[in-house]
This record gives sequence, structure tokens and C-alpha cells, in this order.
Amino acid sequence: MAAVTLEHVIKVFRTGRTEVRAVDDLNLSVADQEFLVLVGPSGCGKTTTLRLIAGLDDLSGGTIQIGGEDVRRVAPKDRDIAMVFQNYALYPHMTVFKNMAFGLKMRRVPKVDIKRKVGEVADLLGIEHLLDRKPAALSGGECQRVALGRAIVRRPRVFLFDEPLSNLDAGLRVRMRSEIKLLHKDLQSTIIHVTHDQEEAMTLGDRLAVMVNGVLMQVGAPMDVYERPANRFVAGFIGMPPMNFIDGELTGDTKNYAFAGPAGRWPLPKDALRNPESLMGKPLVMGLRPDSIHTDSEHAASPGATDAESRIALGRMNIKLIEPLGDITNMHVQLADNATIVARIPPRVAHQLGDKVNLFADASRLHFFGPGEFGERLP
Ligand code: ATP
Repeated sequence: MAAVTLEHVIKVFRTGRTEVRAVDDLNLSVADQEFLVLVGPSGCGKTTTLRLIAGLDDLSGGTIQIGGEDVRRVAPKDRDIAMVFQNYALYPHMTVFKNMAFGLKMRRVPKVDIKRKVGEVADLLGIEHLLDRKPAALSGGECQRVALGRAIVRRPRVFLFDEPLSNLDAGLRVRMRSEIKLLHKDLQSTIIHVTHDQEEAMTLGDRLAVMVNGVLMQVGAPMDVYERPANRFVAGFIGMPPMNFIDGELTGDTKNYAFAGPAGRWPLPKDALRNPESLMGKPLVMGLRPDSIHTDSEHAASPGATDAESRIALGRMNIKLIEPLGDITNMHVQLADNATIVARIPPRVAHQLGDKVNLFADASRLHFFGPGEFGERLP
């Protein structure tokens, strides 16, 4: 097993006169045996980053170390890495056994050892009964297990997973997600897992790294990123439903200030921002997680859960949409400027479309950002 370190990694693709900076000065250290999830929207450079680590593409700049060794001149086959792709890339004419055994055979591992290793991994993944079948006779989930199995038998130093769950239906995706997480415990290996699915990123990784436009936005433990997103982009990308954003500015003085904009005016607790005086009158964005917004009746149902000092009154708002999800309900309400925000409320709180509700936000969970798509988090 091994750590993976990327320093000032750059990848530029040139096609004709156009240039795409797919990876832009990426610095990232993945610890030995860590499960790191690289997450970001489509086209942000995730796959390119994996391909650079695997050696499938050449670097335009920077260095990559695996296990402390600079691998710039090491061929892909000698990097001791296994990559699992979105489309599984199984050999269609080979049985599951042969698919799994292929890498070992190429390395001239003795037949008896191949048989034992494939057997062990098939047992681990619960696919022993499939060893004689060909990929065409497997379900999506089974193909996925075989693709994982083929990677695992080699016991490489590092696993690179490129959206391995994205072709599976929702239920199976969640099940395989748990399996991969448990597998990581068993294998004690370094895993870099790419996904564009923020929920997968939150649940799978020891840490997640958020990328956009080839640039690394933030790296951290999932809950740290959720609770302290580095900028507005990350705040909006991690968490579902996304964080609500309200434009405005600070008004008043440092002892008594409020956030005000077209959507409303809300007096803030004194410690809501570290340097309120430096922000007065400047455009800001207030962020509210849907699960930090509560209704009056929720408060009445659990008195003391949010007392007067720890919450701010958002006001009385019109309910535009109610989305019951079973365990939780998403309630869309209208602000003064007609924009809507979403609150996550308990499922059995009785509200009807068109009702007016008093809403409150946890004062300790307010977020503030500078203006613009990548506005930085304000302490
Ligand atoms: P997705 O989630 O859609 O797979 P991604 O985050 O993995 O996206 P990449 O595939 O790494 O993104 O692509 C990053 C950028 O580099 C994109 O703008 C893409 O069009 C471009 N790109 C990738 N490969 C090449 C290539 N071989 N030639 C030219 N441009 C490329």
C-alpha cells in the first residue's frame, strides 16, 4: 500500500487551436490506506486526474509520487495500480474467472496461486457462483463486482475507481456503496474514488476533495466540508437539497447589525461574523442549509430544541411546494422577493400548500460568503 502525492499537477489538452486546462495546479496528498473521494461536476478534471496517476496520460507539469517514488518515468503497468472504470471494461469473450485471472496471468503468477487468489476474492465479493459465466450473462451489479474483483486479485498498492457505481440503478448503487466501504476496511488499501455524486462522496470517503474547472476547491472530512464549505460553490455542491443562498448586505453597527436584501431583513446575533465592521455595506451572500431551518410547530413539538438566542426568525412565509420523502419532507417557501428557499422538516408536521408558516434558522449554522459563484466563506 502507498501514499499518493500530487504536486502542482497540470494537464493541458490541445486540439487544434483550442486549449483545455483539464487539471490546473493540483496539490493533493492521499495518505497510505486512505479512502479519498474526488468529487465535482462533469468535466471538472476528475477522470483526467486519475488517468495521470495511473500513467495513462502524460503530465503537462508538476509531479506525482506513489509510495514516495516519483512515477513520471514509470510505465503504467509498473505503477502497481488497479483502475476500475465506469463501464467495467470486462473482456466479453472471457469467463469471469479468466477476467479476474488475466492480470495475474500476464504477470506469470503460477496457476495454482491464480486459482487460490481468484477463489479468495470471489468469496470476498460473493461471486463464486459466477466464475464460469461470461459478462453477457451477468447483471450490472454482478459486472461491477467482477470488475472490482479483477482489481482486487492483484492486491495493488493503490486502487483508482472512476465512477464505478454510476451505471447501477439507485438501490444497487447504495448497496454497492456500502460494500465498497466495507471492502476498504478489509483491504486496508489506498483508494481514490471519482464521482460526480455528492451523496456518494459524503458517505464513502475518509476525506473528500472537491474540484471544479480543473481546480481543487477544498479537501476535508465530509462533515467538515458540509459544515464549513470553503466557498459558495462547495456550499452549493455538497448537500442535498442544496444550501439556500440569499443576497444582501450588512446594515447597522457592529453591536447591532442585520443582514438585509431584497428578500428581507434579519437581525443577526453579535457573533454571526468575525469582523462585521469590515463588511458593512458590501455585497454578501447568506447561506442556510435546509436542515437548519425549522417551523414554529417543530419548535413547539420539541421545546428547547432551538431557544430564542440560538435561532433567528426568518419570518412568515408562503408554502409553495411540499415534497414528502417519507422520513423527511422538503418544504419550499417564498421570500419577499419571490425567490424560494427549501426547509427540511419532520414528515408529520401538518402544513398545506398555500399556508403561511413562521420559519426560524439555527443561529449557529448561518453561513456567509463573498459575492459571486466562488465567493469565499467569511469567518
Ligand atoms: P465527467 O464527470 O463528465 O467524466 P470529469 O470531471 O472526469 O468529467 P475529465 O474527463 O477529466 O472530466 O475532463 C476534463 C476536461 O478535459 C473536460 O473539459 C474535457 O472535455 C477535457 N478533456 C478530457 N480528455 C480530453 C482529451 N483527450 N482531449 C481534449 N480534451 C479533453
